[in-house]
Amino acid sequence: MNNFSRRNFLRKTSIAAATTSLGMGCSTTYRTNLITNRKPVIISTWAFGKPANELALQILQDGGSALDAVEQGIRLVESSGNTSVGLSGKPNAAGVPQLDACIMNGPGHSAGSVAGIEGVVHPITAARLVMEKTPHVMLVGQGARWFSEQQGLKIIDNSQDEKRYAAWLAKQKNNSQNKVKKPDNHDTVTLIVLDNNGDIAGGCSTSGLSGKIPGRVGDSPIIGSGLYVDNEVGAAGATGLGENVMRYCASYQVVENMRQGMSPTEACSETIKRIARTDPLGMDLGINFIAINKQGEFGAAGTQANFPYSITTKEFSEVRKGQALSNAHQKEGGNER
Ligand code: ASP
Repeated sequence: MNNFSRRNFLRKTSIAAATTSLGMGCSTTYRTNLITNRKPVIISTWAFGKPANELALQILQDGGSALDAVEQGIRLVESSGNTSVGLSGKPNAAGVPQLDACIMNGPGHSAGSVAGIEGVVHPITAARLVMEKTPHVMLVGQGARWFSEQQGLKIIDNSQDEKRYAAWLAKQKNNSQNKVKKPDNHDTVTLIVLDNNGDIAGGCSTSGLSGKIPGRVGDSPIIGSGLYVDNEVGAAGATGLGENVMRYCASYQVVENMRQGMSPTEACSETIKRIARTDPLGMDLGINFIAINKQGEFGAAGTQANFPYSITTKEFSEVRKGQALSNAHQKEGGNER
């Protein structure tokens, strides 16, 4: 793997680019001067992100990197029995959980991702290994599993758990008989860390949509859709109906909005409004975003009422509600500054 090391590959291909990026020095200095003392800050999707945030904080306090904090925080959710993340997550239409995950490191702008992977206990670690040990960004399906095996990751043969699948089918039937309009059929842990040095890393992990067609890949492992990190500006990540995120490269858009000066909450809500303006679904998109900027400001917004997200600093660790957007009205949530 060494001859193919990612670092060498990137170094060779980026020498020309390096000279042109020298002009960025000014903006980097400007951003650095604006950094406040509120660091580290850890943000994640949903209430189940809170213990992951707290572990991430501990990792940082023990001297780990932002990347270590992201990986360990997400691993905690992957092995917690969560019904939307890891092998305990939702089965696809063939009764098999196919998992998606990605990770991004601000310094060096590196990224790794796995999609449609089966049997791997910690897809977030597989994504990190893709980033660090290969010249590639994304591996899918059998290849991603083969690579994980080569790297010594824990694999469980969960090809088809008939009992679990039968229970899942019965629940779906029950939901439709009870006319449940919005079954809780998917979630993602997306976790972003701003460390003491002002560096940012982030990751996502999910089993994706419940009952999806085998091979379906959502937004979560797609860089720029389910997650985007720009170490000069900030980072954003998504949870919700992946098809409505990935058609718009939405996390990238949130970060670009912050680059234009919007607060994290504004950047999330303006992204959703922009999508809703052109999309036939309007605000019925089923999408939610979290964001953090380089200064430690953070926020969230979603089309789901009261989208919960978790936020952790040295001073507090809480579950808060993102700004809610809908067709009928727009409830103004607080800007988290
Ligand atoms: N975004 C995920 C997907 O579409 C699911 C979720 O976050 O609810 O696969």
